[in-house]
Amino acid sequence: MALPSFKLIRARTVPDAVASLTQYASEGARATRVLAGGTDLLPSMRQRLFEPEYVLDLRLVSQLRGIRETEQGIEIGALTTLREIDHSELLKRDYPVLVEAAKTVASPLIRNMSTIGGNICLDTRCLWYNQSLQWRKSCGFCIKKDGDLCHVAPGGSKCWAVFSGDTPPALLCLDAQIEIASAAGTRRIPLREFYTGAGDNYRSLRPNELVTRVILPHSSAGYRGVYRKLRIRGSIDYPLAGVALVAKRANGHIEDLRIALTAVNPAPVLVSGVDALLSQKNGVEALVETAAELAARTAKPLTTSALTPEYRREMIRVFTKRAILALCSS
Ligand SMILES: Cc1cc2nc3c(=O)[nH]c(=O)nc-3n(C[C@H](O)[C@H](O)[C@H](O)COP(=O)(O)OP(=O)(O)OC[C@H]3O[C@@H](n4cnc5c(N)ncnc54)[C@H](O)[C@@H]3O)c2cc1C
Ligand code: SF4
Repeated sequence: MALPSFKLIRARTVPDAVASLTQYASEGARATRVLAGGTDLLPSMRQRLFEPEYVLDLRLVSQLRGIRETEQGIEIGALTTLREIDHSELLKRDYPVLVEAAKTVASPLIRNMSTIGGNICLDTRCLWYNQSLQWRKSCGFCIKKDGDLCHVAPGGSKCWAVFSGDTPPALLCLDAQIEIASAAGTRRIPLREFYTGAGDNYRSLRPNELVTRVILPHSSAGYRGVYRKLRIRGSIDYPLAGVALVAKRANGHIEDLRIALTAVNPAPVLVSGVDALLSQKNGVEALVETAAELAARTAKPLTTSALTPEYRREMIRVFTKRAILALCSS
């Protein structure tokens, strides 16, 4: 499948990039697409899911690369590759769950190109959407692109396409913030506020804005973590269900526990109510059962992906149990 034609714009600095976005955003929300590693954008353009008039290539913006320590925490530039994250000694020591999640994305070749910004901004996926134009035309277009019905939940008006990035649940557990730049300046928001929960309009990012950095707070450093991912093949596969879990232990007890899910909802989500379970102090076995039940109830998988929703939800329960037990025994 050939790429549709587009005009390529190469930015060299963040102000350059946001100036281009501002200029072209005025021509319509779909006029421009940002290119980071291109590992998701280019296949999607080949399938005619995006047909932007302009593609803004960020790869020469060196300001957006690298991992550095600051007063507020560890800053990771949006263009930092998943391979760099996987090889960072600092992240392995202080934020191991992020490294574990990054390691599971696709394959080594794809991780050499893929960026953390692209993984956070990844489009939601659905069996009825991530298909060629001919395929979609023959089955009928849907709400997410060019149509007005949903094949997954007919009769409804919501798109349930599923968020399938691996690093965002780990970042949610680490209480990460993201920096967003526009011509008006920069703003920081907690990552959990970035996702809308709608499959078709899944992120809170205006057409003239760019994600520039991820910030991991010092307060989350040192949490032990686990990421478990369900996929059909052992590599090169998007998650069909994923659980990230971090815990802080003191005197043999879990003091803090955070659980987040991916690939089972239109957004990556933190499981709420885990704090209350910890305060009950009912012992590890009870904690494992009740936390796994909470996680399974938070997951709302539908027939957007290969494997049945029931199996994917059940695997959320199983992964949560295994992850807590792994953290308690390490
Ligand atoms: C075969 C295959 C397997 C894959 N398996 C996985 C997997 O297992 N897990 C997984 O998580 N992903 C997977 N992916 C998807 C993809 O490789 C990763 O999600 C990757 O991290 C995307 O990063 P990128 O830099 O290549 O993003 P791009 O493709 O460049 O961009 C992705 C989206 O984000 C937007 N964007 C990128 N950077 C910014 C920014 N700084 N500000 C605003 N918008 C931005 C782009 O406009 C685009 O819409 C797979 C892809 C392929 C082709
Ligand atoms: S969930 Fe429904 S509207 Fe969304 S992409 Fe799938 S079929 Fe289309």
